[in-house]
Amino acid sequence: MPVDSPLPTRDDRQVIDERLAEDHDRITERIAALERTIAELVESGRETNIDDEHDPDGATIGFERAQAQALLDKARTDLEHVGEARQRLADDPTFGTCMECGEPIGVERLLARPSTTTCIDCAR
Ligand SMILES: [Zn+2]
Repeated sequence: MPVDSPLPTRDDRQVIDERLAEDHDRITERIAALERTIAELVESGRETNIDDEHDPDGATIGFERAQAQALLDKARTDLEHVGEARQRLADDPTFGTCMECGEPIGVERLLARPSTTTCIDCAR
């Protein structure tokens, strides 16, 4: 086992658990904000005539909405990963090992990206 990538200790796991809880709250807020943004864009899209292809507002709103939707999808995936990481941290003795190669992920990396499932080598 490489010296610079040990498995997380009990204290590390405590910190990682707190980070995951923070991530969970932050992403939940982001999802709520994006859902509001999309709802507003849908609303303003209704007010302009979206059938008119010469209407620049309609195109802009469509673009903004697609962007917000992509961010929302990403945030939902992030939230799933955070939930899975919390589950593993609680139940799975292999938490902290890479799901690709089985080597320790390393505490530094886990603290920086607590929901990661792969070591830095496999993430490349
Ligand atoms: Zn790996």
